[in-house]
Amino acid sequence: MQNIDKDFFMKMHAFIQKHELTYGGKRFLSKAILILSLFFLSYAAILLFHGWYAIIFVAVLTFAKIEIGLSVMHDANHGAASKKSFLNKLLGNTLLLVWLSPSNWREKHNVRHHGQTNVLDHDEDIDVAPFLLRFSEHKPLYLIHKLQHVYAWFLYPIQTVQWIFFWDFSMSWRYSEGKPTNKRLLHIWKMAAIKLFYVFFMIVLPRLLTPYSLWTIIGVFFIMHWVIWFTTAVVFQLAHVVEHAEMVKERKDSFVLHQFATTADFAPNNPILTRLFWWLNYQVVHHLFPKVCHIHYPKIAKEMRKVTKKLGIDYKVNSTFVDALKAHVIQLRILWNNFS
Ligand SMILES: [Zn+2]
Repeated sequence: MQNIDKDFFMKMHAFIQKHELTYGGKRFLSKAILILSLFFLSYAAILLFHGWYAIIFVAVLTFAKIEIGLSVMHDANHGAASKKSFLNKLLGNTLLLVWLSPSNWREKHNVRHHGQTNVLDHDEDIDVAPFLLRFSEHKPLYLIHKLQHVYAWFLYPIQTVQWIFFWDFSMSWRYSEGKPTNKRLLHIWKMAAIKLFYVFFMIVLPRLLTPYSLWTIIGVFFIMHWVIWFTTAVVFQLAHVVEHAEMVKERKDSFVLHQFATTADFAPNNPILTRLFWWLNYQVVHHLFPKVCHIHYPKIAKEMRKVTKKLGIDYKVNSTFVDALKAHVIQLRILWNNFS
């Protein structure tokens, strides 16, 4: 471990232990129960009560899905929800409620994204639409990238549907490294069954039990996913694909310096946004302490500001949401101007 990593973690771990800032405990569990209740109740309401007010139920269901993705399953799959591993496993599997494979997600997110943040050909989060989006100066440049700062916003939202129906399968194949074992093949079959259940619950069942037309249901399905992925994409792109956040070919020797170089916080003083994004606007804290529950991030960020100042580390923060949006657009334009 590099000396700077030792110094940083020694100081920060002392603070975290002193203030017992680790698991989510009862506060996290009560939030998770609330979100899961909203999920099931809004879905039941869509099937049972028909009228214009169904828009409200759809909005609540969409909100619940976003919150499951951003926090309930995210914290749990990092092992940060509870000190009890069975609870982390149980809540981590709520990812199935948005019909994605928890094991693929852990490999993609915990191992590849957290372990190799913004590293070319390792971090799949910077490779969301090969050819169409250029997030790294080490990627090939095409004429179409001149407009990527405009059309990127229309591509982000379709990615949930892509992930559910295509990426989960391609990931399974890739992660087996060309040697698919029987276990992996069984996993692929199970995923196929899960996706069919998804179509059944989201399209077939509403068509059978409600008066809405098939096209209305399919339209709502796509709008719901548009909103889900737009929100999720915004959280992650504004933390990693912004001006001054580095895209690299290899991970730096210092894990700490690597995370500070490739990640930025945004809008830390915006209480509404912070709650909507479940504290993931404190993304630098999350990357350095992924096993700490989100409810502790503001306190840790405050201490981290002092520690980084002492150690001479550049801690990137875009103060407002608008600043972060601008930094993202600027970065997309820089990546067009950058002929490497
Ligand atoms: Zn994470």
